[in-house]
Amino acid sequence: MIKQRSIFAIFLVLGVLIVAGAFLSPTNAESQEQKQNNEEQALHAFAAMHPIDVHVHVFKTDPAFQAMVERLNLKLMNILVMDDTLPYRKELEPQIKDALALMHSSRGHVAFCTTFDPYKFNSPSFDADSIKKLNRDFADGAVAVKMWKNIGMEIKNADGKFIMADDPKFEPIYKDIAQHGNTLMAHQAEPDVAWGPPDPSDPSWSYYQENPQWFLYNKPGFPSKQEILNARDHVLAENPKLRMVGVHLGSMEKSLDNISSHLDRYPNFAVDMAARMEYLIMAPPDKVRAFLLKYQDRVLYGTDLDLLASADVQESLKEWESTYARDWRFLATDETFQSDGRTVHGLKLPQPVLQKIFHDNAIHWIPGL
Ligand SMILES: [Zn+2]
Repeated sequence: MIKQRSIFAIFLVLGVLIVAGAFLSPTNAESQEQKQNNEEQALHAFAAMHPIDVHVHVFKTDPAFQAMVERLNLKLMNILVMDDTLPYRKELEPQIKDALALMHSSRGHVAFCTTFDPYKFNSPSFDADSIKKLNRDFADGAVAVKMWKNIGMEIKNADGKFIMADDPKFEPIYKDIAQHGNTLMAHQAEPDVAWGPPDPSDPSWSYYQENPQWFLYNKPGFPSKQEILNARDHVLAENPKLRMVGVHLGSMEKSLDNISSHLDRYPNFAVDMAARMEYLIMAPPDKVRAFLLKYQDRVLYGTDLDLLASADVQESLKEWESTYARDWRFLATDETFQSDGRTVHGLKLPQPVLQKIFHDNAIHWIPGL
């Protein structure tokens, strides 16, 4: 017994030494501490901007979460999505109820982007029902409407064909959104990597590992990415009074030239950066900087961060803060640092441009914010 205890004690001491060594080895401690300092500084400067993150998904109200948004002077736009592959996104009305509760308890920090139910597309009263509910949500404070990738990639019409964004059945909905002066947040298609071939080096790769239903490589019968984006562009051309934000860099994440030509062609079009910052981080810094300077009025800051009902809030908050710190360091400083195995070269955008990307553009493109 005594022997067992002393062996246990030896292992315990060894364990403590190993853990302490990992934290106290001089290089590690320095870089960790430096990183923490830089992140704290970044969050401080970020908060001073009164930043608006136009693309988040928050499924619960939580005091620690509320404290973070207040600490960072954050304004968030909480976006609803109808997704029949996830139980908590299958039903629209409970999502709306939760989003309104979050908005009302947030002391002005969380706005609400509603959606319509595209799975009801084949119902004869789809238009009328959708518009009725949207107008109710607008009256309750919704400032935008989300359209998701299930249009173009999942839902089929009565003839068994994939429904596309420019289907005439959507036209009255677009007109209604425009008439109310609200904004359409359009997530159409996916990153190039979804059409394959498999590319584990792509920043979105892990998403398709977890969500293989959206990975279309070697799956015949789906519309091409180009067909889906052409339908979206058709909506832009046909609805010049409708403000559309193409979320996720308008699904043109690998071509700043393609984004530029769209912004040139469609004055009613802007893009958000949500979940696509990695592609900008990987692109040549000079090119990204020139793009953001030229289109400084057309790019909105967004992250796609989420807080699931089942989430460990403290863990989630770490991710939120480290994402904001990384994005700020990338766009606003001239630091070079490592993030998720990638080297980030800070773009040090001028202050007035940062002001637009992190704040003004959101208000201009989503006026109710
Ligand atoms: Zn999203």
